[in-house]
Amino acid sequence: MLVHLIRTKGVSDELYFGCYEFLNQFVGPYSFELSDKPREITIKDEIRIVKPDDPRYDIKEKIRYSQYMPPAESKIQERKSWRDLFRINNKYRKSTDDFDSQRNVLSDDNQYHSSFESDEALVAEDRLDYIRTEAPYIVILLTEHANHENWFVGYDPNLKGNYFIHTDGWDHFTSGDPRYPVCYHIASTLLKHAMFDNPEEMGNYMHYQSKGCMMDFCQNKSEVMLKLRTADVCPECQNLIRAKKITHMQLRYTFDVMEDIRRQLLFKDRYDLLRQATPMLVKGRSQKIVLPEMGMLQIGLSPTERAVYLLFLNHPEGIRLAEMGEYKGELRGILNKVSPSDSRETIEGQLENLCEYNSNSLSEKMSRIKRKFDEKLGAAMSEHYYIKGPNGGLKKIDLDRNYLQYEDN
Ligand SMILES: [Zn+2]
Repeated sequence: MLVHLIRTKGVSDELYFGCYEFLNQFVGPYSFELSDKPREITIKDEIRIVKPDDPRYDIKEKIRYSQYMPPAESKIQERKSWRDLFRINNKYRKSTDDFDSQRNVLSDDNQYHSSFESDEALVAEDRLDYIRTEAPYIVILLTEHANHENWFVGYDPNLKGNYFIHTDGWDHFTSGDPRYPVCYHIASTLLKHAMFDNPEEMGNYMHYQSKGCMMDFCQNKSEVMLKLRTADVCPECQNLIRAKKITHMQLRYTFDVMEDIRRQLLFKDRYDLLRQATPMLVKGRSQKIVLPEMGMLQIGLSPTERAVYLLFLNHPEGIRLAEMGEYKGELRGILNKVSPSDSRETIEGQLENLCEYNSNSLSEKMSRIKRKFDEKLGAAMSEHYYIKGPNGGLKKIDLDRNYLQYEDN
């Protein structure tokens, strides 16, 4: 099954590509594709974005048309908000080759604005469309935009295979790594996609009392974290999965993702106990810095920061900053490799800045590198990775080079 991951403008490269890398680590029936560029969204005036002081702020995942029925007025607004988001999915579908084979509902934007005669009629109509319609591939929109009611996962009532996932507001719960909740929800959405014909059916099976199962309804973020930490499926839901004849590959994929996230979260919890280094991989032509055992965690260094870092990686014995000039040739080679599209002039300019005596540019890059490792790994663990040393003395990276691996593609 082809799964396109797309995003709105505020979703960082780091999160977007990070999720892609994470999801691709596991063997499964899915092939993930990225859209190359971020999508724009115009949030209409009438859409109310839920503010943090609103009591509904934490409500992240809710199934439409069942159990919970919001007042009619807010429901209409919410539908518009969702439609704005799904319009991006549909626009994206239009831009891909397969569009013709998809349903004409996609080309009819007016339908989204047709008069709302009554909610019941509309719901019934949507339901019919939904049952009739299943897209040939899945499009998941990652978006930083809160939607009305601030749901965490949205299921398009008009087209099975359109989903959105809200990416903001997780920092507090996941030590600054929102990839885990986002990837968890991608994996669980993919399984639910296979299990249920429509959101209403799914709603009937959700657990409205959290029990640490994938099917927990989850009123707030801390409950979602329970799902992530247990990575479990309760016996009831296991029976359901059996009855739905979900393929082995699919199940394995979902459980592998969940299990890995669980492991990472537990690992993060024990940071202060586990201060030892974990292996580092310098990956691909652009020489990305990745920690494979931490779920392919990428340290998002800019090309110039990366070049400086790679130079120090090459010299376990350390480098005196005053002697940077001696490493100019080597640094030039690295810069050419990590930023192949930069002109000669640009690279020579950077080199001059980095290698001049008492270079500000160099110390600035070094402190940014340190900050990025600190942010990703916590102070205790980042000690092994960033460049450090006494003023005027040898600066080096402590990492045991047995932990270092290069992979060229
Ligand atoms: Zn369950």
